[in-house]
Amino acid sequence: AAALARVEGLIRDIPDFPKPGILFKDITPLLGDAEGFRLSIELLADAIEGPGPEYIVGTESRGFIFGAALAFHLGAGFIPVRKPGKLPADVHSCEYQLEYGTDALEVHRDALHRGARTLIVDDLLATGGTARATGDLLRRLGAELLGYSFVIELTFLNARQQMTDAPVMSLIRY
Ligand code: IMP
Repeated sequence: AAALARVEGLIRDIPDFPKPGILFKDITPLLGDAEGFRLSIELLADAIEGPGPEYIVGTESRGFIFGAALAFHLGAGFIPVRKPGKLPADVHSCEYQLEYGTDALEVHRDALHRGARTLIVDDLLATGGTARATGDLLRRLGAELLGYSFVIELTFLNARQQMTDAPVMSLIRY
């Protein structure tokens, strides 16, 4: 509980970013605090149940930071899911809805073998659009999705209800 409180105390609210009316949860103070960052990775690792993942799948770009550190901590591989046009080899692409318009995410087609045990990691779960698009990409690769892990969950957006394909875990809920 002390570890969780330490992590929570390092998340900062920024009003009206990136647009008026949005209260942005800024995790950069957490990243800059050596003990806090380490605790956040240990807490993410402790929350994993059952057989461990072979791969952590992190979504651009804050998912790379937590995902890569967690992969290193667990002795797992790291798979980046990126914005369109960034990955150099053949990709699968998945479009998803934003508040206004659509965006897409991509993963290398040869990133994972069928049945690979994967865990999706990101800093924050809001509407769940990003996470669900990432889950769709893993399904296309034939990977096994063990779960979704987040440092922060905005529970009032009810993203969880639509993420029924695998368990959703978060450290801190607002
Ligand atoms: P979703 O797709 O609506 O669930 O949005 C989640 C994605 O947007 C994640 O990749 C987050 O990094 C990012 N995001 C949305 N809101 C915030 C915030 O308040 N702080 C940090 N990242 C955010």
